[in-house]
Amino acid sequence: MAVDYKLYDESRLADVARLNLDLAAEHLDLEEGLRDILRSGQREFIVHFPVEMDDGRLKMFTGYRVQHSLYRGPAKGGLRYYPTLDLEDVRALAALMTWKCAVMNLPFGGAKGGVQCDTKQLSQEELERLTRRLTWEIAPIIGPNADIPAPDLYTDAQTMAWIMDTYSMFKGYTVPGVVTGKPVELGGSLGRDTATAQGCVYAIREAIEVLGMQEGAHTVAVQGFGKVGYHVARLAQKCLGLKVVAISDTGGGVYNRSGLDLELVLGHKLETGSVTGTPGTDRITNEELLELPVEVLVPAAIENQIRADNAERINARIVAEAANAPTTATAGKILDERDIFVIPDILANGGGVTVSYFEWVQNTQKLFWSEDDINRRLDSIMTRAFHEVLQTARQNKARLRIGAYILGVQRVARAKQLRGIFP
Ligand code: GLU
Repeated sequence: MAVDYKLYDESRLADVARLNLDLAAEHLDLEEGLRDILRSGQREFIVHFPVEMDDGRLKMFTGYRVQHSLYRGPAKGGLRYYPTLDLEDVRALAALMTWKCAVMNLPFGGAKGGVQCDTKQLSQEELERLTRRLTWEIAPIIGPNADIPAPDLYTDAQTMAWIMDTYSMFKGYTVPGVVTGKPVELGGSLGRDTATAQGCVYAIREAIEVLGMQEGAHTVAVQGFGKVGYHVARLAQKCLGLKVVAISDTGGGVYNRSGLDLELVLGHKLETGSVTGTPGTDRITNEELLELPVEVLVPAAIENQIRADNAERINARIVAEAANAPTTATAGKILDERDIFVIPDILANGGGVTVSYFEWVQNTQKLFWSEDDINRRLDSIMTRAFHEVLQTARQNKARLRIGAYILGVQRVARAKQLRGIFP
C-alpha cells in the first residue's frame, strides 16, 4: 500500500524520520517484523540530574541518550544541547545516525543524545559542571566499544574534552576513544572540525559534475554560521571556486550579489555576535536566504527549514543538506517535482561522522594520520557513497533521499538478518 503523507505530522522530526523510512521500505522487501525492529530503536536512557549554578542555586536538567541501533557496530552520534530537545527528537536523530553511518558504510550503529538547556544562558563553568554530571550519568552505556558521542548543535571540542576526562576518571585510565571531535591535543583527529563541511563540498562537487554544471560562475547561499555553515561557505569558495552570495546566523543573514568577503563577515560576527550589519552587505532574513536565486543552496542550521509552505519558492538548482533534516518529506517531493537536485542530509553531512570514524580508528591504533591523508580518505568515502546513493535512486526510480534511505536501511536490515534474533 502506498505511503499516505497525510498520516504524518511533518512538523515533528520523529514523523519526518519515520516517513522517510516508510517511503524507502516501499522499495524493499522487508518483512513486517524486521521493519518494526528498524522503526523501534534499541535503547533509550533518560537522566534527571542537578547542577549547581554560579549563584549557588541548584537546577535540575534532563539528559537523553538513545541508541537506535548497534547491529553494525558501536552506537555513534552527537550530543546536542538545545532548549526544546526532547526524547522524540533524540529518537529521530538517533535513527538518522543509523542510516547515515550505513550510507557511509561505517562499522557503526546510530545514537544521539543531549540535554534540554540553553547554552546562551549558561556560563562556561556551569556548562562544564553540566557536561561532567551528564557524562557520569550516561557512563554506564557509553564507551569506545559501546557508544561514542561527538559534537552536535551547541556542543564542541571542549565539551568532548570534559566528557573524555570525566569518563577517564570514572575508569581510572585515559580513554580517548570514548568520544570523537576532541581537541587534537587530546587525541582528536586533524580535519574533524571542518569534516562535515568538507564532505558536503565533495558531495556538491559530484552533484555539479553529474548535472553537467562544470562551466560557469555558480553562486551559493548558506543558512547557518555554526561549526558547519561558515566552513561550507569557505571551502565551496576555496575548493570549487563558487561565489558565496549569502550567509546567515540565528539573527538574520547578509547578501551581496557580487560575492561576500567571508573574512570580513567572520570578523563582524566575532566582534558583534551577528553577521548582520557586515559592511557592504544587505540584510536579509533566514527565510529570504532560502529563496534566493542561486545554483547551490546549503541549509546548514537546524531542521524543518524547507517545508511544504516554502518549497515552491526555493530557487536553487542543488540543495545540499548540511544540517540534519532541514527539509520535510513533502517539501522534498515538491523539490523533486521541480527538478531540484537534493543531496539528502544522511549523505551530504556524512563527512562529520566519517572523520569521527577516522578519529576512533586512530585512537584505537594509537597511530595518527596527516590532514592530507584524512581529506583523501574522506573524499574517497564521500564520492563512493554519493555514487552508490545515486545508483540506488536511479535503480529504484526514486529521488536521492529515498535512494539513500534504501541503501542505508538495506545494509542495516541485512546485518540484523545475518545476526538473527536472540534467543
Ligand atoms: N553530530 C554529527 C552528525 O549529526 C556528527 C556525529 C558523529 O561524529 O558521531 O552527524
